Amino acid sequence: MKGPNRINEERLFREFITLAEIDSPSLKERELADYLKNRLQGLGLTVEEDDTAAKIGGSAGNLLAHLPGDEGLAPLLFACHMDTVNPGEGVEVLFEDGVFRSKGDTVLGGDDKAGIASLLEVLEMIRENGQPHCPLEILLTVGEEHGLLGSKNFDTGKLSSKMGYVLDSTGSPGAIITAAPAQNVLYITVKGKAAHAGFEPERGVNAIRIASEAISRLRMGRIDEETTSNVGIIEGGKATNIVPDAVFIQGETRSLDRGKLDAITEEIVGEFEGIKEIPGANSVIFALLSSTRNTGLTLNRKL
Ligand SMILES: [Zn+2]
Repeated sequence: MKGPNRINEERLFREFITLAEIDSPSLKERELADYLKNRLQGLGLTVEEDDTAAKIGGSAGNLLAHLPGDEGLAPLLFACHMDTVNPGEGVEVLFEDGVFRSKGDTVLGGDDKAGIASLLEVLEMIRENGQPHCPLEILLTVGEEHGLLGSKNFDTGKLSSKMGYVLDSTGSPGAIITAAPAQNVLYITVKGKAAHAGFEPERGVNAIRIASEAISRLRMGRIDEETTSNVGIIEGGKATNIVPDAVFIQGETRSLDRGKLDAITEEIVGEFEGIKEIPGANSVIFALLSSTRNTGLTLNRKL
C-alpha cells in the first residue's frame, strides 16, 4: 500500500536536531557512526564500516549502507560526511523563526548533518510509501574537514553505482555543483629573535617585519579565472616593548586546475623562502594541508 509521498517536516527537524547534538568533530565520529548504523539498519539497510579509522587515527571508519531495490534499475549513490569542524563539542541546537542555530559557542554542524538528515528522511519516505526504487548506496565518510581523509581512504571498488550525489554544499535546492576547486591551506611560521624593544632592539630580529616583507610581495585575490589566493590569518607578538620572535600566518590557494594550484602554492612558499636574504631571518616553517595530496600535512620545509 502506498503512503504519503511528502516529507514529514517535523520528523526531519527532529532528526536534524538529534544529529547536530551528537558531537562529531573530525576523527571523533564514533558516537555518530554508531547512531547512524542503528538508524540505517532500522530502516532496512545493511551497513558496513571500513578500516579507515585505523589508517587516519580516528575513532570511526566510513559507513557504506545498501538498500536493495529494483535490480532492473541502475543503482544510485548518495554521500555525506559525518564530521564537523571545531568547535564542535557540546552542540546545543536552538530553533527560532524557522532557523536552526547553535547556542553560540560551537558550530551548528549543519555541514553536513543537514545532508544526513535529508537522506534519513528520504529513506523514511521510501519505507512509508512503498514505491519501487533503484538500489541505493549511502556513503557516510569521516575526516572530511581534515582534508577529505575519509573519502581518500575509501575503497571505491565497493560501490556498484556509476552515479551519485554528494549532499554537501550551500545553495538553493535544485542547484548541482559539477566542479569544485582543489584547495591548499598553508600554515607558515616566521621566526625572528626576541629582545627588549626599548633597551636593546639591535639584538632582536622582528618577525612581524620579516613576514610583512614576504606578504607584501604575494599575489592575492583572483589570480586568474580558475585560481584564487588569500592570506586570512596573521598572529604574532606579545607586547609593544618586545621585538616579536614569531609570526604565524595562515593562507590558502584554490584552483580548478591542479597545475595552477601547485604553481601558486609554490610561488607563496618561494616568497617566504626569499626572506632568508633578510639579515637574521633564518627560520621559516611551512606546513601544507592539501585537498589534492594523499596525506594531511605534506609540505614541511625549513629554510
Ligand atoms: Zn561539508
